[in-house]
Amino acid sequence: MKKFLTILFVPILIIIGIGYLLPEFKEMPCGTASSYNHQSFWHWPWTRGTSGHPHTGVDIFGKTGTTVRAQNGGLVIYSAYMNDTAGNAVFVLGPKWRVHMYIHLKERYVEKGDFLACGCQIGTLGNTGNAKKTPPHVHYGIFTPIPYVWKFFIPIGEGNQPVRYNWMKMFWLDPADHLPTE
Ligand SMILES: [Zn+2]
Repeated sequence: MKKFLTILFVPILIIIGIGYLLPEFKEMPCGTASSYNHQSFWHWPWTRGTSGHPHTGVDIFGKTGTTVRAQNGGLVIYSAYMNDTAGNAVFVLGPKWRVHMYIHLKERYVEKGDFLACGCQIGTLGNTGNAKKTPPHVHYGIFTPIPYVWKFFIPIGEGNQPVRYNWMKMFWLDPADHLPTE
């Protein structure tokens, strides 16, 4: 039994470890550091109550059709018209097992299963989903499937955050910490 557990867990730990060793880059998917509000992460209610929960990313504004690039390389795990909230969405599993989410795209250039280098074109900026009524933008979010439990009690963002959404803070990282400051 002990041997079986070793055989099972050692490769899993090695694979998780390799994910943490991969270098992580700080690039803008499009636009510049002034194309988004650095305080918009966890602002509540950013969407005036339509989604009900705090804003889980930042909105990078720009012209429709602007090229959107992979902020980090990785494996495309989702590329489709998701629903009328997200519209066209691309999710890329990157370094440190973080999932980079690009939402409200006009066009998608990548498919599920594609391996991307940092800076690859993944699509174009648009206003699909519930971005129809707002200026065109990419909603960019970073999700970690490995929870950061210490974040549960840390206040972040602006606005009154209902405590019932605290669990979400363990899974959604502030993209402003992972984007260039200038
Ligand atoms: Zn957004």
